[in-house]
Amino acid sequence: MCIFCKIVEGQIPSNKIFENDDFLAFHDLYPKAPIHILVIPKKHVVCFQEVTAEMMAGMTPFIQEVATLTGIDKSGYRLIVNNGEDGGQEVHHLHFHVLGGGKLRFEHLTDETHKSL
Ligand code: 5GP
Ligand code: ZN
Repeated sequence: MCIFCKIVEGQIPSNKIFENDDFLAFHDLYPKAPIHILVIPKKHVVCFQEVTAEMMAGMTPFIQEVATLTGIDKSGYRLIVNNGEDGGQEVHHLHFHVLGGGKLRFEHLTDETHKSL
């Protein structure tokens, strides 16, 4: 069982924010912003490339609700999905990073970074 499935099952503790029958939001263990939340489907889906449109139809309002509950719906936030090896995905259970709580830089997507790839 993958690490996020273990979090869903309660076998590994997590700092949960919000959940429904299909999705779970919890704080990232190593936050990269003042607010750094992970949103996952409770069902194991490996990556964004494998998610169904039906699942995304539920995921979208869930993420919006998480943003509202944590007070970043108006101030703004960034969604990141790392997909596969080149995308830097380390946990192979689909997750949306929800980052906010302060003005975010865009340092990983500058022209300089692009040229060095
Ligand atoms: P990825 O690199 O796969 O897009 O992101 C994985 C994220 O999961 C990272 O931001 C990492 O800090 C987070 N993470 C890894 N293990 C755990 C854990 O056991 N608990 C929580 N809450 N976050 C984790
Ligand atoms: Zn899983």
